[in-house]
Amino acid sequence: MERVVVAGAGLAGLRAVQAARKAGFAGRLTLVGAEPHLPYDRPPLSKEFLTGPPLTPTLGGAQGLAEDLGVEVLLGTPASALDTEARVLSAEGREVPYDALVIATGALARTLPGAAHLRGVHTLRTLDDARAVRARLDAGARTVVVGAGFIGSELASAARARGLDATVLESLPTPLTRAVGATAGAALGALHARHGTDLCCAVTVTGLEGETDVTGVRLSDGSVVAADLVVVGIGATPATGWLAGSGLRVDDGVVCDATLAGAPGVWAAGDVARWPHPDLGVSMRLEHWTNASEQAGHAMRNALDPGAAQPYRHVPYFWSDWYGDRIQFVGVPHGEPALVAGAWDEPCFVALYRRDARVVGALTLNRRADIMKYRALIARGASWQDGLDLAERRRVQAV
Ligand code: FAD
Repeated sequence: MERVVVAGAGLAGLRAVQAARKAGFAGRLTLVGAEPHLPYDRPPLSKEFLTGPPLTPTLGGAQGLAEDLGVEVLLGTPASALDTEARVLSAEGREVPYDALVIATGALARTLPGAAHLRGVHTLRTLDDARAVRARLDAGARTVVVGAGFIGSELASAARARGLDATVLESLPTPLTRAVGATAGAALGALHARHGTDLCCAVTVTGLEGETDVTGVRLSDGSVVAADLVVVGIGATPATGWLAGSGLRVDDGVVCDATLAGAPGVWAAGDVARWPHPDLGVSMRLEHWTNASEQAGHAMRNALDPGAAQPYRHVPYFWSDWYGDRIQFVGVPHGEPALVAGAWDEPCFVALYRRDARVVGALTLNRRADIMKYRALIARGASWQDGLDLAERRRVQAV
């Protein structure tokens, strides 16, 4: 293998090229990125970047990609087409041939119709988005978040930390239902009220108000919620548009096999990749930092040695920080969870998710020391009783 190309210079792209060198690949290695920036860290963009000094959140090793790892870095160069037969990627008029390609183009934030025409309406996905949002917060904006997901909730928390009015508009009766179930979603949603954010559920946004700058968000009952900053947090779609005509199967992500291969010589990792989980028995695409980091290394190792490719066995993990509280989740949110420590309205709790006789997921609020223990339990396919026993041991230790 002489030439390896990685498309997408985010977290997964960075980890992929780092893994290639770590595995001893000494050939030509190219990283193609659409943004003008070297890979940077996204989670701080909705957290400390908005409340502390607005420093670019760095990722270890990104600065030394060219000098230390000998990576050819093409920034501001979006890949626009892929020929999987000839094994050539096209980007900004360049033809980049490869023996192995790792696709790590991540996801793009969804937005509302009409949002592009009004100043003060933003999504929060990139460093440039975060800078624009921050500028409005600096000006003391009344903040409205459309969508009560994790990123939107963090944004509301940042606005409140700065003493600004914040409203979160959610179309479902309970926030985060798909992510953690209705009971746990309601418990997390209550954090907003406790910190002075107005959470309005079961409302439908019908449009935006304003001539040049946004002045409000219109709801289906005719009312308008006043705003100087509207952040649309209604999810993201995988960045796969450039793969049209490539012959790759795309269905809410690049469809891969269990080893993360999408076609001969093509692999995918991070927010853009969909793969059948070998143990959990479901087709998955995750938008979590830890997955992007781990999956990229796995995809690259398989790409360099396809004959020995291994299935990707990953127990999902994510965290989110609002109002100084740490929410953590491992596994899959199957059905409604059972509370095994604390109470839904207490500052700390642990809830477990069950499928048949197994524990398949765990949600914790402010129990940082516990979550990786549940991750290990789920990884070994432990029984529901094992989950309850661990909760009891942790309870006794905490006393
Ligand atoms: P990305 O980080 O999106 O990187 C993909 C890169 O590819 C981008 O730079 C993009 O511009 C580029 N690209 C796109 N199309 C092309 C193309 N055609 N050609 C070349 N390049 C292209 N996860 C957690 O677990 N916990 C958190 O607290 C958390 N907070 C978050 C907060 C924010 C504001 C955001 C946006 C995400 C957060 N995440 C969090 C999710 C986590 O950051 C992502 O899962 C992770 O960044 C995914 O990495 P990725 O490399 O797959 O995709």
